[in-house]
Amino acid sequence: MSPLFPALTDKPSDRPALAFGPHSLTYAQLAGAAGAVARRLASGRRVAVWATPELETAVAVVGVLLSGATAVPLNPKSGDKELRHILSDSAPDLVLTAPGTQLPEALAQFERVEVDVRATGTLPADTFGPGSPALVVYTSGTTGPPKGAVLPRRALAHTLDALADAWQWTGADVLVHGLPLFHVHGLVLGTLGPLRRGGSVRHLGRFSTEGVARELNGGATMLFGVPTMYHRIAESLPDEPELAKALTNARLLVSGSAALPVHDHERIAAATGRRVVERYGMTETLMNTSVRVDGEARAGTVGLPLPGVELRLVEEDGGAIEEFDGESVGEIQVRGANLFTEYLNRPDATAAAFTADGWFRTGDMAVRDPDGYVRIVGRKATDLIKSGGYKIGAGEIENALLEHPGVREAAVTGEPDADLGERIVAWIVPSDAEHRPSAAELADHVASRLAPHKRPRVVHYLDALPRNDMGKVMKRALTS
Ligand code: ATP
Ligand code: MG
Repeated sequence: MSPLFPALTDKPSDRPALAFGPHSLTYAQLAGAAGAVARRLASGRRVAVWATPELETAVAVVGVLLSGATAVPLNPKSGDKELRHILSDSAPDLVLTAPGTQLPEALAQFERVEVDVRATGTLPADTFGPGSPALVVYTSGTTGPPKGAVLPRRALAHTLDALADAWQWTGADVLVHGLPLFHVHGLVLGTLGPLRRGGSVRHLGRFSTEGVARELNGGATMLFGVPTMYHRIAESLPDEPELAKALTNARLLVSGSAALPVHDHERIAAATGRRVVERYGMTETLMNTSVRVDGEARAGTVGLPLPGVELRLVEEDGGAIEEFDGESVGEIQVRGANLFTEYLNRPDATAAAFTADGWFRTGDMAVRDPDGYVRIVGRKATDLIKSGGYKIGAGEIENALLEHPGVREAAVTGEPDADLGERIVAWIVPSDAEHRPSAAELADHVASRLAPHKRPRVVHYLDALPRNDMGKVMKRALTS
C-alpha cells in the first residue's frame, strides 16, 4: 500500500502541518517528532493515546501509525468505569501522553511514555499492508457500552481520499478544528485528513465562536463541526451581518456526527449565503455519504454515497428498496473499503452487524430523494416511533419543534402507550424558562406543520438535554 501520509514520509517540507493554539509544527518538524515516537514502538503493538486536544496527541497517533503499531485513542473525559472497560478490552502495551499530564488511577499500571514534540528522528518507511490495523476507536456509547472498532489502514486511506474527491480537498486547505481527538470525526477527518492531503490544521484547543471566526478570517478555508457547534455559532451571533462576517470566508463548512437541525442550516444559509455540507459516517464505517461541493446542499440531507461506497436501504423483511421515492424508509446498509474489520473481542457483535451477503447494518434509517440524496430519519433503536400504526421518525418532529421561537433545543422519544403502541414524547429546552410554550401549543405547532398523528402527546421541560462529548443527545437518559 502507498504511504498514508506522503507529505510526511516522501520529503517533509517547511510548510505548516499542525497548530494547536500557539504550538505548531511544520511537516519537517512533525516527521522528526513522530519519528522519535515511532522508534520507541514495535509494529504489532497496541498503544493507548491519552487524547487531549494537544499537539502531543496528534504527534503520538502519527508516530504510532508510521511504526506499524495500532493506536487506541482514549477520551480523557471518560469516567472511571468506561475507561476501565476500554483498557481491559483493548489491553494496550503502553500509554502515550503529553509531558506532565496527570493520568487517572485506571492507567497507573501501564508503562507511560511522554511525547516530545521537539524531538528529531527519522521516520521508518511506511510499508504496512492495507489490512493491518491502524486504530481501535471506541464508538460513542450512545446506544450501549462503547465497542472497539478495529480500523485497517485501507479504511483510513479510502475514506480520506473519497472525501477529498467530494470536497475538492487539497493541500492548499487550512482546517479550523475544535473537536476532541478520540473519535473518528476529530482524529481521522480533522487531523489525519489534512496531513494526508499535505495541508494544515489549526486546532482551537477548545471550540469557541470567536476562535472559529478569527481563523476563518485569517486564512483558514474549512470548518468541520458537530451540529451543536453550528447551533452555538448561530445562537451567539443572532445578528445576521455578524454571523455572515464570521463564516462567509470559509470555502467549506462541514457538519457531521449527528443530524444538523434544518432550522440551524437555514438560518446560517440565510445570513451567509453558504450552505453547510452534511456528511454521514460512523466509527465502524468511517464516511459513507456526503453532499458534494459540486452538487446541491439541501437542508436535512447527507448527500450521496461516496466513491467506492455501496449503499442500500433495506426494509424490515430484508428486501432492498429499489426506487428513490423520498418516502420508503429502510435501514442503511453499506459495503466498501471504508469499513472496519471487527469489533475487538466481540465476534458475536461483529457477526450480528453484517448480513449474510456481507453488508454492514448501520442501524440508521433513511429515505432517498428522487435524485438519490440520502435523508436520515433516525436510528432504528431510538428514533423510530411506532405510534397508531404509523412509523414516525423523531428527527422530523424535532426539526418542527425547533421552528417554534419558544424552543431552543428539542429531542423526541417514544414510550409505551396502551392505546397507540407508542406515544410521542417531546423533551424541550425552552428559549425562555419563564415563558415556555405549553404542551398544547407545541402539539398544535407540530400538527399544523407535519400531520396530526405526529404531534407530541407528552412534553417535558428541561434546562439542558443530556449530551455526550460529541454533543449527541443521549436518548437512553430520557425516560419519563
Ligand atoms: P454507539 O454505537 O456506541 O451507540 P454512536 O453510534 O453514537 O454510539 P458513532 O459511531 O460516533 O457512535 O456515531 C455514528 C452515528 O452517528 C451514526 O450511526 C448516526 O446515527 C449518527 N450520525 C453521524 N453523522 C450523522 C449525520 N450527518 N446525520 C445524522 N446522524 C448522523
Ligand atoms: Mg453506533
